[in-house]
Amino acid sequence: MSQFIPFNTVDINYLTAQLEQKIDALQLLVSKIEASPTSTWNSIIAPLHSSLYELNYIWGIAEHLQSVRDSPELRDFHEKYQPILTDLYVGLGQNQQLYRQTQAIKDQEYSQLNAEQQKVVNNELRDFRLSGITLAPEQQQEYKKIQNKAAELNTKFDHNVLDATDGYAKYVSRDELAGVPTDNLSIYQEQAQSDGRDDYKITLHMPSYLPIMQYANNRELRRELYHAYVTRASELSADGKFDNSAIIRQILDLRYQKAQLLGFKTYADYSVYTKMAETPEQVLDFLYQLAEKSRDYAQRDLDELREFAKQLDNLDELQAWDIAYYSEKLQEQKYSYSSNELKQYFQLPKVFTGLFALIKQLYQVEFISTQNMPSWHPDVTTYDVIQHGKFIGHIYFDLYSREGKQSGAWMNSAQNRSMDNGEPRLPIAYIICNFTKPIGTKPSLLSFDDVQTLFHEMGHGLHHLLTTIDNSAIAGINGVEWDAVELPSQFMEYFAWDYAILRTITAHVETGVELPEELFAKVLASRHYQSGLQMLRQLEFSIFDLKLHGKYDAHTADYLQLINQVRQEIAVITPPEYNRFANSFGHIFAGGYAAGYYSYKWAEVLACDVFSQFDGKSGAELAELGDKFYKTILSQGSLRPMMENFKALMGREPQIEALIKYSGMQ
Ligand SMILES: [Zn+2]
Repeated sequence: MSQFIPFNTVDINYLTAQLEQKIDALQLLVSKIEASPTSTWNSIIAPLHSSLYELNYIWGIAEHLQSVRDSPELRDFHEKYQPILTDLYVGLGQNQQLYRQTQAIKDQEYSQLNAEQQKVVNNELRDFRLSGITLAPEQQQEYKKIQNKAAELNTKFDHNVLDATDGYAKYVSRDELAGVPTDNLSIYQEQAQSDGRDDYKITLHMPSYLPIMQYANNRELRRELYHAYVTRASELSADGKFDNSAIIRQILDLRYQKAQLLGFKTYADYSVYTKMAETPEQVLDFLYQLAEKSRDYAQRDLDELREFAKQLDNLDELQAWDIAYYSEKLQEQKYSYSSNELKQYFQLPKVFTGLFALIKQLYQVEFISTQNMPSWHPDVTTYDVIQHGKFIGHIYFDLYSREGKQSGAWMNSAQNRSMDNGEPRLPIAYIICNFTKPIGTKPSLLSFDDVQTLFHEMGHGLHHLLTTIDNSAIAGINGVEWDAVELPSQFMEYFAWDYAILRTITAHVETGVELPEELFAKVLASRHYQSGLQMLRQLEFSIFDLKLHGKYDAHTADYLQLINQVRQEIAVITPPEYNRFANSFGHIFAGGYAAGYYSYKWAEVLACDVFSQFDGKSGAELAELGDKFYKTILSQGSLRPMMENFKALMGREPQIEALIKYSGMQ
């Protein structure tokens, strides 16, 4: 019953032929549907979704291959078809006839549909409305203009940040870099060499900028770089060419207009509408609660750092450009373990066995290695996923970094679970990481960060694989609210911090002994290092973002005043007046996080709250909790709002106390 993706025969010709065919089929189907005399689930939505499923499946394979085995042909393929697909999807979202037919299903057939189908119909109608389909013709024109202008400005914002970052370089001598580790020095030297110079080149790109702020003893150099970094893309930057100030105001104005057109009070209301949180006020309330709980801890962190800087260098005033530097030194002094020492305990095969054992305990799900699934690279390992003796899906692991592979780690769907005319398609997941490849007979050793990454992505993978939903549009992670989708992944990460679990996945590469508790205690303490300061920083960004897209008026108010006001309310560190961090805050001005930056903290609260129930449990008790998590969350896809799932699991709404505790602030 298995349906493998034929990676051994997939090439550009196959992909092109398949995609062309699926596009034609979809277009043909849409014109057929538009002329359909009946508007029912079976005449409209079922065939449309089935056709979209086929198209996305092929497109997904091409996208996947581009990310793990890039080639000029794949890039050309992507460049050619991406705009075609975008047009196709936008066209569907703006198809009046399709909208009327979907509305007719809602009006006439709805009560006879099952719960999954009802949810799909409601989602479709919601998305139609959010794409402006119910607006009067002039308003629709207006809406399109806003969308296009906003997209243009988002790109411009992004380019300005990039250009401002690229536009800066500083060349220094070896003497000026005292304190900087040799690894970094050789990179600065190489970069100067490629400019035909024999000194050292520093830029504002993070891997170049950060080591200076962390390690350079030269305070004046740190101050100068800090100034350049925090004034990027502003009126204060050295060349002033890439100023984002006016663009920010325009973007905010357009977003406000868009929200108003669609019937929302503010852009924040529009953003939160499709999320788990119910109102912007609820989110603000949540963020301020967290701020109140963490402020004293942040103050304590800062006092400790000031005291340390005073003792070490007789520093009277700790400035913004001193914080990373002294934090690094204080951390070294407080927690004397090296990440290399820790790494010796995490052999990849052992970590895998332990992770699989944990999953089996929690969900009675097993991973059986299989040799007969074709893949895209010899490093890839493949598994059948078995639950209670039943085959429920497949998973690919592609774990080592190599050339032509995108950096980072992610889980992606190779195939969604779906039931088409009684024919099941089972979920298939990709888990992609960039760990160090084993050398010779020695196994690959993971850093503790790698271990957490693996657990995290596995959480997403389980959410995708363990779904019991038949409609792919709401199966697995599809349609799950943006601020809740990290719940299963962050939840899994917490297990890596549980010593009872952690010891089972460790064995020293030479001696075979498990991770000693004393070493783990140090790691745990360093996890909480400056957690108050870190928490407040994230809250500052989140509150600023939400207020900016809430009551803020782009015409009369000043976003610089707003950020100052937020800082006065909650922060313990006040950066210099010239700090223009908003001018390079791409998450909210160029990415998808507008009025949604809070999602990171929101999901963390959910995950931590849930994990607190599992903490310290074992055996039958753990299995029982795992089963409950599976039934209320992992299997549910987006059939129900996550808040309902959460309440079904926990018997109450989320609470922040667990996160406070697990951040060491208690
Ligand atoms: Zn994630």
